[in-house]
Amino acid sequence: MTQPLAIRVRNALAQVANPKTGRNIVAEGLIQGLTTDDDGKVRFALEMAGGGAADADALLAAAKNAALAVDGVSAVSAVATAHSAAPADTAAAAPAGGHNNPLGMGKKPQTEQAAMGMVGVKHVIAIASGKGGVGKSTVAANLAIALAAAGYKTGLLDADIYGPSLPTLLGIKDKATVREGKLAPVEAHGVRTMSIGMLVDPDQALAWRGPMVMGALKQLMNDVDWGTLDVMLVDTPPGTGDAHLSLIQSKRLTGAVIVSTPQEMALADVRRGIALFRKTETPILGVIENMAWLDMPDGERRYVFGKGGAARVAQELGAPFLGAIPLYPDLGEASDAGAPLARGDHPAVKTFAQLAGKIAAAIQGAEGSTAE
Ligand code: ADP
Repeated sequence: MTQPLAIRVRNALAQVANPKTGRNIVAEGLIQGLTTDDDGKVRFALEMAGGGAADADALLAAAKNAALAVDGVSAVSAVATAHSAAPADTAAAAPAGGHNNPLGMGKKPQTEQAAMGMVGVKHVIAIASGKGGVGKSTVAANLAIALAAAGYKTGLLDADIYGPSLPTLLGIKDKATVREGKLAPVEAHGVRTMSIGMLVDPDQALAWRGPMVMGALKQLMNDVDWGTLDVMLVDTPPGTGDAHLSLIQSKRLTGAVIVSTPQEMALADVRRGIALFRKTETPILGVIENMAWLDMPDGERRYVFGKGGAARVAQELGAPFLGAIPLYPDLGEASDAGAPLARGDHPAVKTFAQLAGKIAAAIQGAEGSTAE
């Protein structure tokens, strides 16, 4: 799987600096509507509001040349425009745009453009689960902390539109702030985070339909100043729906990690989740079994929800099994207190560190197979 052309073009454009500011033209939001097609044709607009005509010509030529130099690009059609798009209304609840065309047939550009805000993010990993309540958000938050503790610059995007729990889990009370026209992520426990819960009243988001979910996700990816990150985990809503399709469509996913509890009922949904990612050629980095057992004070290990179900399904479907997380009776309390267990000297630190190591290795594996 080669890296999508749109991303390679975007990366090339990010090497071009606006002489007026010295900043790269992608980071400045000057590249609008970047699209690529299967024949290698690239189109974009260079937003030149306030720029002099001479500058515009020179900059447009530089941008075109940068795009043309990308392997696989056959032609570049680009125009300089002078009308400034209104800055995104980042604090507003209802995101505009979006469409009800989940796989984006004939309409791909929209989310590819959305992902331009993440130009400095090396790897985007979706954390998914078949069902709600299996601990997906808890696992995503603790894994992000463990990745950060291992030295990776880590981001965590809470895209669980219907139940954003990240602010609670990480003890974030601040609302998002706007910095130079972009939302500033909130730093917590060494992780750069942003949640739909930091933007809107969660009750409001409950009523959102497909296009609005896609629009919200687009904002979280595009209008947030993520900066440079080695890895960004995206906590997706349970099941497979608009948010997943939207992420897949953005062509930014390095892969997906599936969280499940061991019960057969949860596993049926895992199969569905894996099938969706497979169908869209998104690598499954692995399956994590959460709430795998409970260690009793007398040393007995109780398999409360059955034994090894997730490992079995992973094996059956040919997906890597990354490991198991036991039931930690104090985890719920820690989460409610905004003091995640992946810090300090709790046994969970080691569990999450090991899983983070496996994910980092899986990313490298996926990277190897996407080498151009
Ligand atoms: P999801 O994101 O899948 O809906 P959550 O992360 O919100 O699930 O977790 C659901 C509940 O289970 C929370 O109360 C959380 O604290 C608890 N929980 C998650 N994982 C564990 C675990 N390994 N041990 C104990 N409690 C857990």
